[in-house]
Amino acid sequence: MSDATARRFADPFAMGDDGANCLRCGYLVEAEREGRGLLTCSACG
Ligand SMILES: [Zn+2]
Repeated sequence: MSDATARRFADPFAMGDDGANCLRCGYLVEAEREGRGLLTCSACG
């Protein structure tokens, strides 16, 4: 198992986790980018 290095993604079933997932790769969009209306993570640009 190498979960320690895995990137985060928003869990729609987790209380308090209202983060958005990147439309391209599915990983969590950084809160700062989400605040700017972006729907992709920094890795996808
Ligand atoms: Zn992405």
